Amino acid sequence: MWRDPKKIKNWTINTASEYYGVNKWGVNYFSINDTGDAVVTPMGNKNGPQISLHEIAKEVEDRGLAMPVLLRIENILGSQIKLLHDTFNKVIKETGYQGNFKGVFPVKVNQQEKVLESVAKYGKSYNHGLEAGSKAELIAAISMLDNRDAYLICNGYKDEEFIDLGLNAVKMGLKCYFVVEVPGEIDVILQRAKDQGVRPLLGLRTKLTTQAEGQWSESGGDNSVFGLTISQMIDVLDKLKDEEMLDCLHLLHYHIGSQIANISDIRAGAMEACRVYEELVKEGANMQIMDFGGGLAVDYDGSNTNFHSSRNYSIDEYCYDIVESIITVLDKNNIPHPTIITESGRATVAYYSVLLFNVLDVSSFNPHPLPEVLPQSTNDLLENLMATYEMVSPKTIQECCNDVLFYRTQSRQLFKHGQISLREKGLAENIVRHILIKISKLSVTLKHPPRDVHYIDNLLYDTYYGNFSLFQSLPDVWAINQVFPVMPLHRLNEAPARPAIISDITCDCDGKIDHFADFEHDRSRLMLHDLKEAEEYYLGVFLVGAYQETLGDLHNLFGDTNVVSVNVHEDGSYEMTEELEGDSVSDVLEYVEYDIKAMKVRLKQLTEDSIKKGFITAKDRKGILNGFDEGLRGYTYYEKDQV
Ligand SMILES: *Cc1c(COP(=O)(O)O)cnc(C)c1O
Repeated sequence: MWRDPKKIKNWTINTASEYYGVNKWGVNYFSINDTGDAVVTPMGNKNGPQISLHEIAKEVEDRGLAMPVLLRIENILGSQIKLLHDTFNKVIKETGYQGNFKGVFPVKVNQQEKVLESVAKYGKSYNHGLEAGSKAELIAAISMLDNRDAYLICNGYKDEEFIDLGLNAVKMGLKCYFVVEVPGEIDVILQRAKDQGVRPLLGLRTKLTTQAEGQWSESGGDNSVFGLTISQMIDVLDKLKDEEMLDCLHLLHYHIGSQIANISDIRAGAMEACRVYEELVKEGANMQIMDFGGGLAVDYDGSNTNFHSSRNYSIDEYCYDIVESIITVLDKNNIPHPTIITESGRATVAYYSVLLFNVLDVSSFNPHPLPEVLPQSTNDLLENLMATYEMVSPKTIQECCNDVLFYRTQSRQLFKHGQISLREKGLAENIVRHILIKISKLSVTLKHPPRDVHYIDNLLYDTYYGNFSLFQSLPDVWAINQVFPVMPLHRLNEAPARPAIISDITCDCDGKIDHFADFEHDRSRLMLHDLKEAEEYYLGVFLVGAYQETLGDLHNLFGDTNVVSVNVHEDGSYEMTEELEGDSVSDVLEYVEYDIKAMKVRLKQLTEDSIKKGFITAKDRKGILNGFDEGLRGYTYYEKDQV
């Protein structure tokens, strides 16, 4: 596109909106305003209050919190919880469904205290509960949930301590359910319940044969590690009958994976699970609740397809499919409709966090001007390259493509064998780039561009160095090639001129983003703006609220980023409800078991020794030690000069 002068000349914010895809993945939350800033409308209503993310980024920096910053927009979390409940309630009303809907938030998707606090706050009026998969998550959940009408669902492996925690919650009147995931668990649960004199609230996790396509397909199907097979389920039923505890079994649960892109998998899973539910009723269990697990996907690339970073359905369709599956299966035998629970994590929190960072530098593919005279050389490589450059024309373009790639290889060979010098190699690289650019620009004007033009275009990109760590802030980009939308936070009314990939500041060659949301192609370059001399260039990575924070790691010892939460008011004003400072250098060193005091002692010894040996003066030593102290207190990311 950078080669297409027409597109660039007629660039508007609508072009930007389409190009970056925000008109699709931004749903009702993100868009571009008239001045070309990325904006958020956190009530999920484009006519509602709107704030500029560029303004927020600048304001956060003015307050002394450096980039990168993870921005949480609280109201979006509220809007998403409301959307889920409103949609289910609408469908329930329209279909005449007899039960009701209660959501739970799976803690593992984002365990941060502030996140759970917000879920509890915004979920209160809907009795939105929590799902915990470990002891730590359960304790966190109990501490946040004082709502006795909300559900607290316990999945995962449970030891005695886990079970006691849950039984205590039941004693206090909380609706805390144990979902039996593995056969051995039931004995421990029954024993502890008997010891404590509590009737436990029980659920079973069924292993469905339905398997959803995508990243998490192994979570479902016969090969999934979690859940009970039908025969194991029968064993548990028999045990409960023997112990006269069958009345404690109320809930059936399944989870066939996250980010289920295809609605037909959702429907197939729901239908199969409803059949199991029906049979449990027939077995005499006191069934009341059907828990459909997670899986509600987020359309990260905006394509609305069954591609793994998308989904081919709306929330409406999701709710309809679940409700209709239950009605279809259970009405045949007049079985009462259960309470519906879903454990949507990703869809609840993804939209609410945006990673903001500044660009530090650009390594450009722009060549230096062509040399006026070529240096004397022992071979004719440079002459050949210049001749190729001169020759590029509509008729010879294919031949020039072949030639330039041939000479490019040849220059590498010659250099390796000592036949051209470093400066000659540099000149050759430079002329090659001129040729590639000339070919690329000419090919836009041709009806039949050369067949290699994609290959050539892919060689022409800038590297934008972003002030962030992929491993800390976007681990799924590295681990599972997840696509997150990326867009500049400003200048969106200007045509971006440079095709780019984005590198982070870890010195790991995997620390880069070179896959971008695009609903038509596999896009490996993103158009970005030229940097301006005295102006910061900010980028945002959107929809990062799910899974990224705790999965992130300390690669290269880049720590947690600064976090800012904002809450937007109806009148368009907003307040920063929380500023959390990210890790300092000493924090991350302590994570990897350094003893800061002992380090300081060693640094003192080294500097003392340097005085003794005459390398530095006593005054130098003071400055050096102050430098270490400041370094230890500092942010792990690139800091601008602090005046
Ligand atoms: C991970 C998980 C979820 C959350 O899934 P999403 O696709 O993020 O909604 C829900 N339930 C269970 C049991 C899980 O393991």
